[in-house]
Amino acid sequence: MATKTLTTTSGNPVGDNQNSLSAGRFGPLALEDYHLIEKLAHFNRERIPERVVHAKGAGAFGTFTVTHDITQYTKAKIFAEVGKKTDLVVRFSTVGGEKGSADPVRDPRGFAVKFYTEEGNWDLVGNNTPVFFVRDPLKFSDFIHTQKRDPQTNLPSAEMMWDFWSLSPESLHQVTILFSDRGTPKSYRHMNGYGSHTFSFINHANERFWVKFHIKTAQGIKNNTAEQATRLAGENPNDATQDLFNAIAQSDFPRWKFYVQIMPEHEATNYRIPAFDLTKVWPHKDYPLIEVGILELNRNPDNYFNDVEQAAYSPANIVPGIGFSPDKMLQGRLFAYADAHRYRLGINYHLLAVNKAKSPTVCPYTRDGFMRCDDNGGNAVNYEPNSVGGPTQDPQYLEPPLALHGDLGHYDHRQDNDDYSQAGDLFRLMDSAAQQRLMDNIAQSMQTVSRDIVQRQLKHFHAADPAYGDGIAQRLGIK
Ligand code: NDP
Repeated sequence: MATKTLTTTSGNPVGDNQNSLSAGRFGPLALEDYHLIEKLAHFNRERIPERVVHAKGAGAFGTFTVTHDITQYTKAKIFAEVGKKTDLVVRFSTVGGEKGSADPVRDPRGFAVKFYTEEGNWDLVGNNTPVFFVRDPLKFSDFIHTQKRDPQTNLPSAEMMWDFWSLSPESLHQVTILFSDRGTPKSYRHMNGYGSHTFSFINHANERFWVKFHIKTAQGIKNNTAEQATRLAGENPNDATQDLFNAIAQSDFPRWKFYVQIMPEHEATNYRIPAFDLTKVWPHKDYPLIEVGILELNRNPDNYFNDVEQAAYSPANIVPGIGFSPDKMLQGRLFAYADAHRYRLGINYHLLAVNKAKSPTVCPYTRDGFMRCDDNGGNAVNYEPNSVGGPTQDPQYLEPPLALHGDLGHYDHRQDNDDYSQAGDLFRLMDSAAQQRLMDNIAQSMQTVSRDIVQRQLKHFHAADPAYGDGIAQRLGIK
């Protein structure tokens, strides 16, 4: 096979890629050796800022296929008919660790899906848990600091974590999931995904429904024990990344069933559970799962950096028929995700191949910016309104008005909020062996934590279920 001639990035043929240009056999080197300078300079710039959360990840491409009709709830074209297929890209991740951290650790897992629909990209940026640790985005960076490293020692700190959690009872539900068997999934293929927030559906009659998304693994839930996870973190720290890539390479395509829970708009007002609180689920007996389709991953990335590291998901990316909700955490994320991409990837991140909508985009009037890599709008008009026939708005895409009430103020989100019942429900649905493992895992994590913090946290466990609090207290030798 004829080999191609190596060039510089500007296409200039390279005569020597083994030996730098030097004065005499032993140097020094000449600054005019541009090929050497370019290699050194480019190498220094190979890394982009890692994500501040969800830094370690793996991804794959696939297909969503509609199996059941839900057009009574949404006009989103992705769900238009049974059998309809839509391409997608998924990125799984751990949350707290750095880009080189171990896959098997105890941590929530990110489960982010980008559907390339004919009406633009729809990003469902979820986790493998249906709830979260905080319910107000004002607490997000504080919470994440406790999951990262101590500012002085640069070590992870159980003291920071339990201090924050014990002072934030809304975290108890998610803490219970985190320390249960599902806190250490066996692989990305063996876990569920959840949209977690409440979103909205709008149907053809312009009626609004509140919706939660559930993506259930067809491989079955499988988890590592705490001991297995610790051992694997040393023996094969990339096991989940490897497992996903190998399964797809061997055509053992992982699948998930896609479900929704649907709440008519007016029911949110009087529902006994706050419908827009990210620390709560809607019990299945109140709002049963409705099957919608199959999500399959069937193509590995060709290039990790292009297809996974630069994949940029944002819950703000929605399509007609799918909308937001008043959930405060969702509202915060609508700003934060795109902002993170502007910082990490630059203002034109949406033009990168993995992020680019596959639908015909009649481009907004935005222009220019770092690394603009399409035709930049060519000679088309770049302001609106204009009298030369540039693209215009279409009111058919407006959502029905949403009635809101309340005076502007900083409302205490912990006042009159039941942070205990659902954590207790979860504890009680576990069999005895799972409860013992949960309490073992928590006691292990709390071993070095200050007693006053432990005492404060034990009250929360006890409020969820006396057996929960007593079991951990007993393991820690506390009455
Ligand atoms: P159900 O009995 O109808 O559902 C229980 C759910 O709990 C199932 O979806 C099950 O998942 C899931 N589950 C089982 N073990 C764990 C675990 N260790 N961590 C997280 N989830 C687990 O009860 P309800 O709908 O009334 O909910 C009861 C509790 O179940 C909730 O308080 C919540 O903690 C948890 N849960 C509820 C969900 C919901 O949307 N209603 C979703 C996920 C959890 P699977 O079917 O895959 O086994």
